[in-house]
Amino acid sequence: MKTSSDPSGAPRTIVIIGGVAGGMSTATRLRRLDENLNIVVLEKSGYVSFANCGLPYYVGEVITDRSALLLQTPQSLAERFALDVRVNAEATAIDRENQVLTVRSGENETYQLHYDQLVLSPGARPVLPPIPGIENAFTLRDIEDTDRIHSAVSNAKSVAIIGGGFIGVEVAENLTHRGITTHLIEFSPQVMAPLDPELASLVHDRLRDNGVHLHLNAAAQAITASGVTTNTGEEIPADVVIAAIGVRPETTLAQDAGLELGPLGGIAVNEKLQTSDPNIFAIGDAVEKRDGIGQATALVPLANTANRQGRVLADILCGRVQKDRPSLGTAIVGVFGLQVAATGWNEKRLLAAGKKFRTIHTHPFAHATYYPGAKPMALKLLVDPDTDAILGAQGVGEDGVDKRIDVIATAMAGGLRASDLADLELAYAPAYGTAKDALNMLGYVNQNLADGTANSNQWHELAAAQQAGATVIDVRSPGEFAAGAIPGAINIPVDELRDRLDEIPSEEVIVHCAVGVRGHTAARILAAHNVVAKNLDGGFKTWVAGQAVTQPATQTESVR
Ligand code: FAD
Repeated sequence: MKTSSDPSGAPRTIVIIGGVAGGMSTATRLRRLDENLNIVVLEKSGYVSFANCGLPYYVGEVITDRSALLLQTPQSLAERFALDVRVNAEATAIDRENQVLTVRSGENETYQLHYDQLVLSPGARPVLPPIPGIENAFTLRDIEDTDRIHSAVSNAKSVAIIGGGFIGVEVAENLTHRGITTHLIEFSPQVMAPLDPELASLVHDRLRDNGVHLHLNAAAQAITASGVTTNTGEEIPADVVIAAIGVRPETTLAQDAGLELGPLGGIAVNEKLQTSDPNIFAIGDAVEKRDGIGQATALVPLANTANRQGRVLADILCGRVQKDRPSLGTAIVGVFGLQVAATGWNEKRLLAAGKKFRTIHTHPFAHATYYPGAKPMALKLLVDPDTDAILGAQGVGEDGVDKRIDVIATAMAGGLRASDLADLELAYAPAYGTAKDALNMLGYVNQNLADGTANSNQWHELAAAQQAGATVIDVRSPGEFAAGAIPGAINIPVDELRDRLDEIPSEEVIVHCAVGVRGHTAARILAAHNVVAKNLDGGFKTWVAGQAVTQPATQTESVR
């Protein structure tokens, strides 16, 4: 690898394609490490270093100052970092043999640009299914898209968003914030694919409660002058249609240059972020990352990953010992005041991969319940029952979900096991947590399941267990039972259990309470009287959330 200048004394030229998250992180770190490099950034849009993650909030007029989205300009980057940043400059071809790029600048001008090393950070492009009228749908990727959508929705009464992923859901919230009737059309039975259905169900409730018209199991079939037609025969009225169906790695340039792609269609890179050409490196949404759970690669189109890889690559290009670490896909989104976060793999993905896993649902409070404003959350932890490794986690709630998912992601990155969560020493005061934090509690539950102190039954296994003859005992209070109960359950409050043991059958028993805590106590009481009872994991709350969505196609055997 060349150092900052070649033997002729000419400075080394590093050209970066893409001037936003990954590309600009590489450029600025390179400059901080080496004052002598010749660093050129090519960006095909009119803006660099803009806040893509803030775009939905400008559309929704939560962010009203457009200039707040523009974090840097070519001028400011030249002044502070001595970068040669060129906007409206699209790299159209790579001549790998001669290490020369073809660049289209402005309308028609084309020129050649030499590189010693080339960095590709061209991002991702929106998926656009070939349905009639799709060319009339807006997509949201850059500032120009944002301006178009911002102006189009200004006079709209009704907007249809196709796709219930992160961006679709964020845009739905923001348009609702602007008082626009919003339809969210999702092909699958749930929004937010990183969540399992019983957690997504909580997001569905929040969207509907805030007036979003949610169309699940509905595929858009055509975009017409009056809106969107779906495969369910619905005609959804919309003045504006936004396609947020997902993204694919932007690989056109790489493919045309003959660079290798990975099995998922992203640019293939090694641990040094090097492509199949040793002088060309690639980062961000365009590349396949090493997956933090499996051995394979994953597409992780997230800002943290792109920025992180950008910095790592600058270090590598300056000869520092660095390698890209695997990605867990840790992500969070806000939905009308709900924090919705996930890390690692979900149950759907574990099932599809045929991996063994243990599932734990809890509903802890974000902070001590006696301190005002305590909010409950739903947490789900997935654990490898053989190794005790944490495979993934999800959380939905108004407060404290971000902290819990980030700690779990950190624990996973650090190689902590699920049972280690029991012993985490976490900051506590009544306004911020509980003395036994929600994460400690997940660790306790896991330890109990791992050593056989507890057995659980999952929400989607219950009906089959009942059909097979299991008795469901609801150990909540009579008042809670009267307000809503699982069909077929009998009510024996936990505090009466010791006196009513003669009512407990000896064959399979499943106990449950609201969230699983009293159920665990009940199961332990029964165990002391030689009745092996399973505790409904996550209790009535998780069961109710699960009923609201289509049950997973493949049912899992609970692993204990
Ligand atoms: P980008 O940041 O997309 O930059 C790629 C740039 O390359 C583009 O500006 C493009 O114009 C340019 N380019 C492409 N081809 C060429 C070429 N041939 N020549 C010159 N220039 C080229 N992630 C999160 O983690 N959290 C969030 O809350 C979040 N919200 C988001 C909201 C929206 C609306 C969007 C669009 C994305 C959001 N993301 C979020 C994703 C995050 O922005 C991306 O993961 C991240 O920006 C990827 O960085 P990148 O460098 O790979 O690509």
